[in-house]
Amino acid sequence: MSGERITKITLDESEIPRRWYNVAADLPSPPPPVLHPGTLQPVGPADLAPLFPMALIEQEVTTERYVDIPDEVLDVYRLWRPSPLFRAHRLERALGTPARIYYKYEGVSPAGSHKPNTAVAQAYYNAAAGVRRLTTETGAGQWGTALAFACAQFDLTCEVWQVRASYDQKPYRKLMIETFGGVIHPSPSELTAAGRAVLAADPHSPGSLGIAISEAVEIAAQHEDTKYALGSVLNHVLLHQTVIGEEALLQLAKVGDTPDVIVGCTGGGSNFAGLAFPFLREKLAGRMDPVIRAVEPAACPTLTKGVYAYDFGDTAGMTPLMKMHTLGHDFVPDPIHAGGLRYHGMSPLISHVYELGLIEAVAKSQSECFAAGVRFARTEGIVPAPEPTHALAACVEEALRCKETGEPKVILTALCGHGHLDMAAYGSYLAGTMTDRELSPEDLKAAAAGLPVV
Ligand SMILES: *Cc1c(COP(=O)(O)O)cnc(C)c1O
Repeated sequence: MSGERITKITLDESEIPRRWYNVAADLPSPPPPVLHPGTLQPVGPADLAPLFPMALIEQEVTTERYVDIPDEVLDVYRLWRPSPLFRAHRLERALGTPARIYYKYEGVSPAGSHKPNTAVAQAYYNAAAGVRRLTTETGAGQWGTALAFACAQFDLTCEVWQVRASYDQKPYRKLMIETFGGVIHPSPSELTAAGRAVLAADPHSPGSLGIAISEAVEIAAQHEDTKYALGSVLNHVLLHQTVIGEEALLQLAKVGDTPDVIVGCTGGGSNFAGLAFPFLREKLAGRMDPVIRAVEPAACPTLTKGVYAYDFGDTAGMTPLMKMHTLGHDFVPDPIHAGGLRYHGMSPLISHVYELGLIEAVAKSQSECFAAGVRFARTEGIVPAPEPTHALAACVEEALRCKETGEPKVILTALCGHGHLDMAAYGSYLAGTMTDRELSPEDLKAAAAGLPVV
């Protein structure tokens, strides 16, 4: 693309995609089934019904290529969608790279991240099924904020268990959740058997997403009018996030570019899948050929160092067994600042796509990530959340490689959230007190030792 210089590529409201894309319809083989932890047989809809409404269970297993977005959901999406795609001219210039870098900015949503794309859909389907209350876990607090906002839209009560380490580090997330009308507890808590068991073993437990999930699931399973909502990992969550990639495809087409490299940060995999899967569809159809690269924290290296095995989604072992890249459900990562990337497992769909060789993965230390985040803030004017600094570190790495080779590659990433409530992490980086701890092979071995035998 030459000539006129475009920085912000927008779409009209009428161009918001009308359907979500299900990558499972286009893969050469289906992902392995989810298993019942007792019988080790594939789970059926009845097994999941205590936790999720039937519409979401159907989306979890559908093989249809597209799912229509309900009007009620589109109506809420219009508050911030379509989200802008930016060309990072200033970052490119600072790096001296011939690469063209684009970022799809999801920080414009009410929660400041991509999470409302699925929170609104999940709240809608639960409300439509007559549910009164949703329980959930949250790490950094983004998902809890998104679900509290979404529940407010559909008159649902929202109850959130937040990982203790983040609850203490990020008090403003708690206040934001409460402002949207949610109720929030630090996890592990005394309110559940799962939380009490962890506290009995370690009264100072920093918590983990796996523990918080156990608590939220326990409460949902015990109450008829209450269901559980998960902010990542599951197929229906990834499905809802594909609105990001569908918009980005339209936006890049407007400037006549196709990506050579797509990078995204992966916690459970939802923002990465949301951006990448519509492009993977194009790749599988032979219409483009981007390299697709997941970026994870070196402190929680699920894809690059985990095993591909059946494991529980939570710590207490209450969820069905999913075949995924995992560090083991007992794994409690260091309390790094990227709270949203501290999950022991990886989405089964992303794990499967990785096993098929359709995507790559790299791990980055948090100081390299924050260096990229600060560089990005000073050039592009947006302070990124700690999670997408991982994607930015990989963007910078790729752009500098282009500088060496002279290749004008097109790099696309998801800037999946802003870091306005994560400034303490920047404070630690700027003060030079941020530490990088590498996992030892012993740590990894110990965590994987607790994997269920299937
Ligand atoms: C939750 C969150 C993540 C991690 O979740 P994914 O499902 O991997 O996207 C990453 N970035 C931000 C800003 C988040 O809120």
